[in-house]
Amino acid sequence: MDRSHTARLTPPDDPPVDRPHPARRHTVRIVRRRIPSRAALLSLLTAMAAAAVAFAAWRWWQPAPTVAVYQRTLSDVEMSWRCEAGHSFTASGQVADRPCAMCDQPAYPVIGYECKQHGPVEVAVRFTSGPDGAPRMSQLRVNHGAWFPASDPVRCPQCGAPMVPKPADPLDALNRSKKKGG
Ligand SMILES: [Zn+2]
Ligand SMILES: [Zn+2]
Repeated sequence: MDRSHTARLTPPDDPPVDRPHPARRHTVRIVRRRIPSRAALLSLLTAMAAAAVAFAAWRWWQPAPTVAVYQRTLSDVEMSWRCEAGHSFTASGQVADRPCAMCDQPAYPVIGYECKQHGPVEVAVRFTSGPDGAPRMSQLRVNHGAWFPASDPVRCPQCGAPMVPKPADPLDALNRSKKKGG
């Protein structure tokens, strides 16, 4: 009889012993969850701050602002244009050729060069967009001669001597005048 009593008593004793364990495990789990979440938040903030610094540094090193200023300079500038038929007019600079307002023939911006012996000579310019998007002089032409690379020396059509540009670079001259004005 006693054995059966002890045998019946032991099972109800077991559950109360087991119950505290899951409860303790739960509290331990909650505490453990809070600690990694704070660490994760800190690491996330650190990563975001590092990304912000990296982005700021990347933007600071980008040559884009200089290119934008250069492009604005070319389109804002009033340049002298001359068409194939000899009409001259003033219009804003652009990379592409511009049709003449009078005869619709292609016209090109003209810049001044000077021969020490023969005086000023008008030189036609063709601009091109570089890989960075900045416009630069690509080709030059004296009178109605052949186009030649802008890197070549510009020679006088009469004596063949290399000529000197009156303003060193139309874009540089514009930048200077802009700096003086503003
Ligand atoms: Zn014309
Ligand atoms: Zn000359």
